[in-house]
Amino acid sequence: MRSKVHFVRVKLNEDLDAIRDKTRWLLESIKLKKFIRVNDLVAIKISFGEEGNKGYIPPNFVRFVIDEVKSCRGKPFLTDTNTLYKEKRQNTVDHLNLAYEHGFTQDVTGAPIIIADGLRSGEDIKVNINKKHFKSVKIARACADADSLIALSHVTGHMLSGFAAATKNIGMGLATRVGKLLQHSNIKPSVLTSKCTACKLCIVNCPVDAIEIKNKAACIKEDICIGCGDCLVVCRDDAIKISWSETSTFMQEKMAEHALGVMKNKEGRTVFLNYALKITKSCDCMAKDDPRIVPDIGILASTDPIAIDKASADLINETSNLDLFKKEYPNLDWSVQLTYGASIGLGNLEYDLVEME
Ligand code: SF4
Ligand code: SF4
Repeated sequence: MRSKVHFVRVKLNEDLDAIRDKTRWLLESIKLKKFIRVNDLVAIKISFGEEGNKGYIPPNFVRFVIDEVKSCRGKPFLTDTNTLYKEKRQNTVDHLNLAYEHGFTQDVTGAPIIIADGLRSGEDIKVNINKKHFKSVKIARACADADSLIALSHVTGHMLSGFAAATKNIGMGLATRVGKLLQHSNIKPSVLTSKCTACKLCIVNCPVDAIEIKNKAACIKEDICIGCGDCLVVCRDDAIKISWSETSTFMQEKMAEHALGVMKNKEGRTVFLNYALKITKSCDCMAKDDPRIVPDIGILASTDPIAIDKASADLINETSNLDLFKKEYPNLDWSVQLTYGASIGLGNLEYDLVEME
């Protein structure tokens, strides 16, 4: 069976009234009312962006979705989970402060924020999935407890998975720190001592103090490393290496299995909106404001995370006239998350695109 993906062309700098009308068209086309019962607690999953990053979905765009949920008489709340790595979203207090700084206040969005995995990411629910990597996965509690889920995903590239949208937003983004850790557990970085300048940037950024300087070069203690990839991101001398293909494949498969766990108690209660706007090489977890790698495409809506991600990538690649994510990350196969996701029943690779006229 083919899935439906609804699509409107949008530019980030377009008139706000037009964006509100287009968002409304998308949610009417998808029949939002079918997914939200009166008084449902509706989790709106979003990334509030890392400090210094401006790629996140603008709070006033989020307001348009919140208003539609309220018109279905649902009770929406914005949600995300705490991060594995150091920066400003590692615990709920810092995370909320950053979200407010980025404009996600209740007067702007119309909804409160609940960080789904609790103060220090200890609040989860075990969901049995019985798949290749995991028999069960741990999902952030507030999301699992919510009656319905709407995932708002900014479509970007990603340094470990090559491509990030709905599957990553719920698979990685609704796992607790333990779940994130398990998804990264195949990432085993090592140091190319010939390139290392002993600048210590990786040491400062390693969340678990797994790096030390030995013989004038960084040295990673394998037994302590949690595979978060932060050292790889911050090293300016290209001195950290990992085995890309194997690492990325396993991580994407594990991410898809976590996404399946998120969806498990939400059958008929999950909607996805992908924002293919200000598409950047890195995701919004990076503490920097990347330039666009392709012109704005638009917003997509579907009930199928695989179909909406496939449609998003297809539209981007069509506009770029090449496989853009392969070009940006030649060592990775970004499509693993979709093919594997489809193989475990997360969604369909086949879809029909319904475009607003
Ligand atoms: S950031 Fe790179 S160059 Fe600096 S100490 Fe770490 S590995 Fe070496
Ligand atoms: S050594 Fe690198 S990958 Fe390992 S925990 Fe530290 S920053 Fe993360």
